[in-house]
Amino acid sequence: MATPTGSTETPKGNAEVVQKHYNAIQEKGLDHRNRSRIVYMRNFNNWIKGMLIDEYLTVIKEKRKGEPVRVIDMCCGKGGDLLKWSRGDVNHAILVDIADQSVADAQKRYSEMKAKTPRLFSAEFLVADVTRTSIRALMKDPTMKVDLVSCQFSLHYSFESLPQAEKMLENVSASLKKGGYFIGTVPNAYDIVGRKRLFKKNWFGNTVFTITFDESLDEPYSLFGAKYNFHLHEVLDCPEYLVHFPTLERLAERYGFKVVKKKRFQNYYEDMKRKGQTLLHNMSALETYPPVHGVRLLGHHTEYPHAKEYFDE
Ligand code: SAM
Repeated sequence: MATPTGSTETPKGNAEVVQKHYNAIQEKGLDHRNRSRIVYMRNFNNWIKGMLIDEYLTVIKEKRKGEPVRVIDMCCGKGGDLLKWSRGDVNHAILVDIADQSVADAQKRYSEMKAKTPRLFSAEFLVADVTRTSIRALMKDPTMKVDLVSCQFSLHYSFESLPQAEKMLENVSASLKKGGYFIGTVPNAYDIVGRKRLFKKNWFGNTVFTITFDESLDEPYSLFGAKYNFHLHEVLDCPEYLVHFPTLERLAERYGFKVVKKKRFQNYYEDMKRKGQTLLHNMSALETYPPVHGVRLLGHHTEYPHAKEYFDE
């Protein structure tokens, strides 16, 4: 295990705000998380990530037949997916994030796991802005290629500008083996804009979350830098950017990617709920199901298990 490797660059633009924000979030432990108002939403999001990671690790293992599996956890945060890498039996993981404090927390979590399970996968921890720095130069072995890059709930930060989105995709593409996979989860820009139109204001939300658009920003939104502020109870208060998915797809093509799957959470949930029912139950991600009052207006959200935290006001 290495000490987190830092890029010497100071993050520019809103990356600095994002970095400061995530660094300031304290690790409050499982007990606190379980008592939080957004526990079911967190658990549901975690279940989605768990199923997605499991799905693609399975595909990779079938393809690679016994070869070591290596992954990059891009924008790893505090290492919330370490257990998923352990359950998925990977051989090596590279965790990278812009927030040094989060990376230190991830590294601590890994050390605790390793103390209990000495045969745990090997790992390295990097501090870097993946939208501005070439992460390969920071890796222990810059020639190493991985089978999977996972970027969960983070890719939207790269849509601050075109060069940043390009750099992020270049980082992924340069690190992946041929035939490797890039998986991720992002807020749905169509839903966000749809709700803004519905409420006819530059903000919407409830006591759990608020999305606020800059007064100066109006439709048609630019493909990059379409900034809104996302406030989530006890967790986030941070600038984020709309990700126009067709633009992401076209950009990704330029870096050698072919889209193999894209799904809304609620559709992915429908596809995977049978397979993942034990995990879903164990994580108590479904306490708020069935659908709740107030969601009917938002049609496609009625089947969204964590809708309660968003809409039941
Ligand atoms: N992937 C983790 C998860 O699913 O729990 C963390 C998600 S958290 C919502 C977003 C993470 O993206 C934060 O840890 C933040 O520091 C990181 N991040 C944002 N912009 C970044 C950038 N330009 N380079 C690297 N990490 C970044």
